[in-house]
Amino acid sequence: MLRSRLPHLRVVPTTPDGGFRWTRDTDVLRRLTALGYLIGASTAFLSIVTPDPDPSDHRALLILAVLEVAIAGVLVFGGGLPDAVIRAICLPGAVVFTSVAVAVAKPAEVVLLFYLWPALQVGYFGSRREARVCLGVFAISLAVALHLGDWQVPLITYVVTMDVMLLATVVLYILTRRTERLMEELESAATHDDLTGLLNRRALTAALDRELRRAQETGTPVSLVLFDLDHFKQINDQHGHAGGDDALRLVAEVLRGTAGELDAVGRHGGEEFVLVLPGRGLRDASAIAQRVASTIEERSSETPIAMSTSAGVATCGPGRRDADALMAAADHALYAAKAAGRRRVYVAPDIVPARAAA
Ligand code: GH3
Ligand code: MG
Ligand code: MG
Repeated sequence: MLRSRLPHLRVVPTTPDGGFRWTRDTDVLRRLTALGYLIGASTAFLSIVTPDPDPSDHRALLILAVLEVAIAGVLVFGGGLPDAVIRAICLPGAVVFTSVAVAVAKPAEVVLLFYLWPALQVGYFGSRREARVCLGVFAISLAVALHLGDWQVPLITYVVTMDVMLLATVVLYILTRRTERLMEELESAATHDDLTGLLNRRALTAALDRELRRAQETGTPVSLVLFDLDHFKQINDQHGHAGGDDALRLVAEVLRGTAGELDAVGRHGGEEFVLVLPGRGLRDASAIAQRVASTIEERSSETPIAMSTSAGVATCGPGRRDADALMAAADHALYAAKAAGRRRVYVAPDIVPARAAA
């Protein structure tokens, strides 16, 4: 799936039916910043060992390089540090450090390009608040650094560096958020049914797999209800495809209204719907299925398209531990409900009417 191919983004679940938001991973920021500090250190070492008309800054640069290696070490081995500390070292910390380099290096101008490093990191990883803080820290620390470092640096150097840093941060910030929104939309389109907004078949199977795995760990049951509207072809024939679509949306609304917070609701195919019920045994699940079926009848009887539905219910158990087996059992029960005359709920494995089972 899309989410697993993006290792720099972490998925934070927001709803049980697969809703989520992205978060940019502090761990990736930590490693990236360590690399940045090491590059800074090696550049400082390089400037010391290469011919230099003004070696007066070498001592300061050496101290700076050693400090950079030390900070990189803290970041590499400091996986246990609180996120807030890591983010402070990586975002405003990197700005301050670059300013220190500007203050000690001669000429200062050659170091200014290094500001692109914190600018891009802040734009990509930073929250709005972190971006504001970093830009403030940047404005002040650059002014101090230029002032301390070299009286000859013209004001325009400050303005141009500020502009570039601001632009790089803002452009990357906007681009990143836009891309994330796009990914969320893509993810939602890939997992939801267009007509009803319910989970699609693929997402349903994933939710069922997830719940079955959890059930195996906790020893709790998971039930599945498969609904199929009765004589739906006739509904389409009598009321047109658009009327049929309205009827499907009504069914989705009823299912959404009935499902608990932890349940997953989806459209399995044309006029087939699925309810995944974690923590529910056969008895509960068939009662819920009956309630959904009666509500569909009641609600649709108030519209021009009266509907009835048949349902098959199955619960995980021996020989029914994976999604395919559970789905096949519910489908088998549904088939029996249809064969027995429709407008009824049957349960697997015995394939008996739900009322008798309950
Ligand atoms: P049964 O009681 O045996 O289930 O009869 P049925 O007519 O419901 O049987 P069947 O499953 O063969 O027909 C389903 C119909 O659902 C056929 C198809 O045209 C219709 N259908 C599938 N998807 C959509 C859709 O998105 N919108 C509309 N309006 N109709 C759809
Ligand atoms: Mg069908
Ligand atoms: Mg049908």
